[in-house]
Amino acid sequence: MPSEFELIKRYFDRPARSAAMGVGDDAALLQPAAGMDLAVSTDLLLEGRHFRAGADARKLGHKALAVNLSDMAAMGAAPRWATLALALPRADEAWLEGFAKGFFALAQRFGVELVGGDTTRGPLSVCVTILGEVPGGLALYRAGALPGDDIWVSGELGGAALGLAQPGNPAAARRLDEPDPRVELGERLRGLATAAIDVSDGFAQDLGHILERSGVGAVVEYARLPAFPGTDARQVLAGGDDYELVFTARQERRAEIEALGRELKLALARVGSIQKGPPALQVLDAGRRPMPLARGFDHFAP
Ligand code: ADP
Ligand code: MG
Repeated sequence: MPSEFELIKRYFDRPARSAAMGVGDDAALLQPAAGMDLAVSTDLLLEGRHFRAGADARKLGHKALAVNLSDMAAMGAAPRWATLALALPRADEAWLEGFAKGFFALAQRFGVELVGGDTTRGPLSVCVTILGEVPGGLALYRAGALPGDDIWVSGELGGAALGLAQPGNPAAARRLDEPDPRVELGERLRGLATAAIDVSDGFAQDLGHILERSGVGAVVEYARLPAFPGTDARQVLAGGDDYELVFTARQERRAEIEALGRELKLALARVGSIQKGPPALQVLDAGRRPMPLARGFDHFAP
């Protein structure tokens, strides 16, 4: 049976490139570039709550990092470093190998270095903290939306919820298990978007956070929302785990945003507009009647 330290060395100790000290000492040492703000975010994934028992280890490694990369994207930050806190019921090397494969494949794609973590025995849980850089003053906040702004959504909505409902639908299951964080889009939205958030708990709820923080309302046309094929309105509006970006921008920037979508080969749909008034969201159906909104995901909802 390998020791804790052998497992760390075997699966998680990769030579540090940009960190002055990565895995192996008491703390990592990082040197953000001059003029950059450091963006930091943490997500905790628990077996039975965020993923089912027996979930594929490689996909879990991918998703644990992907959800954190998505937070960097929503902030307009370039992801640089990550730490990984793992609780494992046992030293299962096949599991660790799969997990590391999924994690590092995505890390490499976005130039993220794993610089530390913690490994302990316990009920399976995975906690990643990510650190990224964004030029001072250019981070994308939830609070910047202004009346008259357009509301945009990347990719498609509801696919992850469909994947949960229909595990036999491979395209939808892929949306749930292996989300594609919109990192390039987030970075390119600096100075272009007025506010941004990623869709982790459902479009309506996550847009609602922008509205609350910005002190504005919104009208969205349901027919303009980019629905994943086969989804229903509940999945599109309230399905979580899509990790698309919802952002707002001045109307004058429409052509730039459309050009950006073409350049990134990523669908960007203009779905509605920000209104003066209380932070309420109206979603209109084809007859321009307000649709009822299901609640998004809330861990403590009764
Ligand atoms: P400490 O006793 O100071 O908590 P550890 O013995 O837990 O240190 O960890 C030794 C080194 O391995 C540290 O640099 C730590 O950041 C790193 N490490 C531990 N677990 C992981 C992991 N799952 N992924 C990456 N690095 C890890
Ligand atoms: Mg430790």
